Amino acid sequence: MITVDRLALSFGDHQVLHDVSFDVKEGEVFGLVGESGSGKSTVLRCLAGLHTHWQGAMRIDGQELGHRIDRERCRLMQMVFQDPYGSLHPRHTIDTALSEPLKIHGIGDIDDRVCDMLVKVGLNPSFRFRYPHQLSGGQRQRVAIARALILSPRILLLDEPTSALDVSVQAEILNLLEELRLREGLTYLLVTHDLGVVVHMCHRLAVMQQGRIVDTLDSELLRTGGASHQYTRSLLAAS
Ligand code: ATP
Ligand code: MG
Repeated sequence: MITVDRLALSFGDHQVLHDVSFDVKEGEVFGLVGESGSGKSTVLRCLAGLHTHWQGAMRIDGQELGHRIDRERCRLMQMVFQDPYGSLHPRHTIDTALSEPLKIHGIGDIDDRVCDMLVKVGLNPSFRFRYPHQLSGGQRQRVAIARALILSPRILLLDEPTSALDVSVQAEILNLLEELRLREGLTYLLVTHDLGVVVHMCHRLAVMQQGRIVDTLDSELLRTGGASHQYTRSLLAAS
């Protein structure tokens, strides 16, 4: 479904992505792991259209993605950030946060859709009158997920969606994401530094090191201790 083909990107003379290639199948949870600064978020940002000066190719169902973000791309995939304020404006109510994309895309039944979406992510619809700071961290991340899903995308780009949360809340959010994926038929590209999350959530994963993919494997191999690549083994040993 998602094809990333020899993606490269530099900031000035610092090349941060080198020939990054991988495929994600429809309905799959594909993990992207690697040390800090290895380029994981940058890959997601290229897919989301937040960087425009990349080289290579990215395709969704065989259709090339352009360098500029457009309406079609917003309907197809959305990003969820580690910090919910990546997608929520502190001075906008939850209602505004969820209504805005619907208005921009000319979609009707806004009130019903906003309430239904809050219920889907496990929040009381009355929460729509609150501001983000009037919610707990876990509730705020639920709202960020709701905002990402309000246009019914097929793909979520999840950048460490639980790493800012307490362990017990992390499990709740991961369970919610899994439930939503199955119910809505979503495909996830999930960046995490937590190999426990990979084992729990991902079907396959790619391991990044210094802007390159150095290993791609089934997460079953992590579970059974069968990862053979030396760098993957060193990441496992360090976790
Ligand atoms: P972390 O696990 O810490 O989130 P990451 O794997 O997501 O790390 P990226 O955020 O993709 O890493 O960054 C990859 C490299 O690109 C880093 O060296 C970073 O400093 C650099 N970089 C990222 N964004 C920019 C930018 N806008 N301008 C310049 N350099 C950048
Ligand atoms: Mg990152």
